[in-house]
This record gives sequence, structure tokens and C-alpha cells, in this order.
Amino acid sequence: MQHALTASSRTGRGGALLFVDLDNFKSLNDIVGRDQGDLVLLQVAQRLAGCVRASDTVSRPGSDEFVVMLEDLSEGAQEAATQAEMVGEKILAALSQVYQLASYAHHCTVSIGIALFGDRQEGVDELLQRAESAMHHAKGAGRNTLRFFDPSMQAVITARAALEAGLREAVQREQFLVYYQAQVDSSGRVTGAEALLRWFHPERGLVSPAEFIPLVEETRLILPIGQWVLDTACERLAAWADQPALAHLTIAVNVSARQFHDEGFVDQVLAALARSGARPQRLKLELTESLLVDDVDQVIAKMSVLKAKGVDFSLDDFGTGYSSLSYLKRLPLDQLKIDQSFIRNILTDTNDAAIARMVVVLAESLGLAVIAEGVETEAQRDFLASQGCHAYQGYLFSRPLPVEGLRRLRNGREYVWDGCWARAEMNSQTLSRWICRAR
Ligand code: C2E
Ligand code: MG
Ligand code: MG
Repeated sequence: MQHALTASSRTGRGGALLFVDLDNFKSLNDIVGRDQGDLVLLQVAQRLAGCVRASDTVSRPGSDEFVVMLEDLSEGAQEAATQAEMVGEKILAALSQVYQLASYAHHCTVSIGIALFGDRQEGVDELLQRAESAMHHAKGAGRNTLRFFDPSMQAVITARAALEAGLREAVQREQFLVYYQAQVDSSGRVTGAEALLRWFHPERGLVSPAEFIPLVEETRLILPIGQWVLDTACERLAAWADQPALAHLTIAVNVSARQFHDEGFVDQVLAALARSGARPQRLKLELTESLLVDDVDQVIAKMSVLKAKGVDFSLDDFGTGYSSLSYLKRLPLDQLKIDQSFIRNILTDTNDAAIARMVVVLAESLGLAVIAEGVETEAQRDFLASQGCHAYQGYLFSRPLPVEGLRRLRNGREYVWDGCWARAEMNSQTLSRWICRAR
């Protein structure tokens, strides 16, 4: 431990101590005898070793207590806490599996206390005490659970758990909505819209996806939610197809890495198209560069199947990831989307302007279309046009709006959505009425 503490304060990488205590172990010894108790301890040790990396340490300081030391976690305390929590959850799950003993199947749970180390110079004893004290809190909270020593870390983890529970409920209660944000060409004509997910929380009002998409991805809730967004967007396309004024509009749907890599993804998209009757040519899928990190061949294969049906692909947030240009050439893409972080200061920051220009030139030479997102001012749009980018999305044209149809542009800023003037900022009462109507 001393060695790990020194290494951690030198490298800045975080670490964690997990104090694992079996719940009600004494009574097991009393009932079935010490030999059987020993067998359980052996199995616990094996399972613990299976839950951590080879470079981590599992030890048994005594009786029914185990201490696991995780090293080389993230530098940021919150991220390190999340990583330690994930291992803790894994241990809780692994150790609560049934233990097969000679004469019977034993069930048991554990309580875990977690103390992080890294930023301060704690001593070995102090750290052990912290982890043990947190373990007692876990026991006090009803056993079969974990607790952090640091109350602020515990608060982060508790808030995350509440968000996750809320999201699970949101899926069941259908508290999600799709907003649409217009995409326009150089004459200001609307060519389509991006579908943007919103969570309409009964108490908190509208929650931004930036707040919950990462967690939704981690917990795989993205699969049912992503399917719902796809279905909703395809139904919208099918409805627009019947109206001559709207039939040309496309809808761009964001697809996260988890969702794309799921083995059922291609079928999911095809099923959404088939169910709704939407034209595949009107559907555009927005992928991010992070999705291309592993198994590019597989990514290309999946894209090609959908591409053959007519579905388009756009590379979202382009310029923020680490795309290899040689991969880019191989992908069946249709469009690059210049990330809004480069548009924000495009008029004042010469680097941002150069990056935007580079993306336009790259798109041109690869035969791809290009669109800029986050366009907020006319000056930004004019500059982009002078650089050869003629498709835009941003507050200058329309905010994402909770409505059915995109009708016509007024003053270059507002749209009529199904006969009603849509205002960018709506209070939640108005919003609820909109939602009821939209349903
Ligand atoms: P994104 O796909 O890059 O979407 C663009 C974001 O920029 C949206 O944020 C949009 O509201 C915002 N935006 C648009 N124009 C402007 C502007 O002029 N100025 C500024 N400051 N912002 C602008 P939003 O709706 O909060 O979505 C955040 C991110 O959440 C999206 O980024 C996307 O990555 C993700 N997301 C949204 N909906 C879905 C979904 O259905 N599935 C998945 N997997 N991810 C989604
Ligand atoms: Mg997007
Ligand atoms: Mg984007």
C-alpha cells in the first residue's frame, strides 16, 4: 500500500481502497462449521480476484474481511470515484452469486466501504480506517451495498443513482420527447431537421440530453431510448411525405457508439423504416468519431447495408475526435458536420477559422457535403459561406422546437409549426400543452 500511495502521488493517477466485509459470516460458521466457512472464504477470494485487473491487489487481512486496492484510476476524483464504484458494483454482484458447498447452496452478501487516495498524502493506517468506517456505513444502510468515505463522492454517486432510477422510470412512463432543429441551405430554405432528444421530467421540467446521454449509454438504456427516437423520427418522415410542402425534408438522428455497435442496430433501423413506411432517402444518421475507434471494418459493413437501402450518414462534431483521414476515405459517408466549438469563435480565432476551412476543403476533396452547426449570427454564416460551406444549423435559424411540422420561415428567425408561432423559450405550462397536442 505504501508503494502504491507513493506512486499515486508521483503520477497523479488516483487509486481506491475497497474494504469488503461478508454480511452475517459468523452465523455461517456457527451453523455449518468452520470447514464449510473456509470454503466460502476461498471462493470469495477467487471471485474477488476475478473482479479486478491483474495489476490490482486483493488481500485478506483477517477473518471475513478482504481489502482490494485499485491503482492507476483516472486523475480526476469524480471519475476515479465512478471507476471505483463500478468495480464495487461488480464485486457486489459476483459475491452475491450462490456458493456451492458440499452439503448445500449458501447465499451471502457483502458490504463495501471505499476510500479514494491520490490527491492528498494520506498514511496507510488512515486510509484503511477510512475504508473500514465507510464499510460500517454500508452495513448501517442495510448491507449488500457500498458507501464512500468522502461525503462529496457519496453525493456524486447518489445523484447518479437517482438519475439512473429516474431514467428507467422515464422509459416506462414515456417521458421523452423529440425536438426538431431546422437545417437550412444558403438561401435560408429549410432542407430538413435534426431530431434532438429531450426528457420531460415531471418535477425538473425539460432536461438536456447533455446531462443524461452519457449515463444512458453506460447503462445500455440507450438501446430502448434510441429505438424510440428512430421510430418517432421515421413516423414523422412518413407523415411529412404525405404533405407536398414537407415531403422533401430530411431528418437527422443521432446514433451513439453503444447503439451502433449493438448487434441488432441495422435491423433496428430497417424495422423502423419498414414499420413507418418512411423513405430511407430522407433519413440521415449522425455518427460521432468516437464510434470509429474500434473495428472500422465492422463499422463500414454496417453502414454499407443501410447505405444500400438509401440511408445517409453524417459525421457529427467533426474535428473534435481523432479520426484517421485514411479511415475517413473508406467510410460510406455523405456529410461532415463542423463542430460548433469551431463556429463559436470563427470570426475572432484564426485557428478555429482554419479548422473550419480545412473541414470544408477535406469534404470537397472526399466528395462529401458539409454543414456547420451552432451558427448563431449572420456574420458567422457569411464567413462560412465565403469559405464554401452552404448548409447551416443553429439558433440563427431556429432553436430545437417541440413541434410537428416545419412550415415556413419568417424574418429568417422563426418558423410556423403547424399553424402556431413557436417561441424559443416556453414556460413549462405552455410546453405541457404543446406536448399534449403533439401526442
Ligand atoms: P449534437 O448532435 O452535436 O447536437 C447539437 C447540439 O447543439 C444540440 O444540443 C443543440 O440544441 C445545440 N445547438 C444547436 N444550435 C445551437 C446554437 O446555435 N448554439 C448553441 N450554443 N447550441 C446549439 P442538445 O439538444 O442539448 O443535444 C446535445 C447532444 O446530445 C447532441 O449533440 C447529441 O450528441 C446528443 N443527443 C441528442 N439527442 C440524441 C439522441 O436521440 N440520441 C443520441 N444518441 N444522442 C443524442
Ligand atoms: Mg447531432
Ligand atoms: Mg454536433
